Amino acid sequence: MYLDSLAKIAEEIKNCKLCELSKSRINPVPGEGPEDAEIVFIGEGPGAEEDRQGKPFVGAAGKLLNEFLKNAGIQRAHVFITNVVKCRPPRNRPPTDKERDLCKPYLERQLRLIKPKIICLLGNTAVQTLLGKKSVSSVHKRLIEKNGFNFISTYHPAAAIYNPKLKSIIQEDIVNIKMELERLKYSRDGT
Ligand code: SF4
Repeated sequence: MYLDSLAKIAEEIKNCKLCELSKSRINPVPGEGPEDAEIVFIGEGPGAEEDRQGKPFVGAAGKLLNEFLKNAGIQRAHVFITNVVKCRPPRNRPPTDKERDLCKPYLERQLRLIKPKIICLLGNTAVQTLLGKKSVSSVHKRLIEKNGFNFISTYHPAAAIYNPKLKSIIQEDIVNIKMELERLKYSRDGT
């Protein structure tokens, strides 16, 4: 019988040469977090610091994400954090459609294993790849059900580095995730 696991997927990603990004990466970044995480965060792709460490969201945007999570009362160790593509696009350019398509099966397998109650999409690339919508603005503040998953979308924390006005919006969205999670549990239990 074929048994998949996050460790098996991470090992495959480590050896993956499916797309051009494998040539310029230092380390692939499969993602990190527990297999029973209730919330999954999905960004665009690893940046320079993530590429160096092989871990997701450990650079400047990661520091902001940590702050948003802490303020929302969400422990980073309890959520799974990953990206649409697992290897760094050169000069932080957005991944091409081909790169996204080739890498997507890894993400789909991670989501099938984790079965999160809520998936938070961070930025346009994640929204385009997972929801087929053009931008965060077109789905912002909406809980969207698709393929058996619940999606909430907000701006990428990196965008708040250059546009501080986005900080309060992202923070509010992440607080809202926690409330949606409680609401979903409540409605499922019927209590
Ligand atoms: S980005 Fe994804 S598909 Fe491309 S080499 Fe890395 S793991 Fe493989």
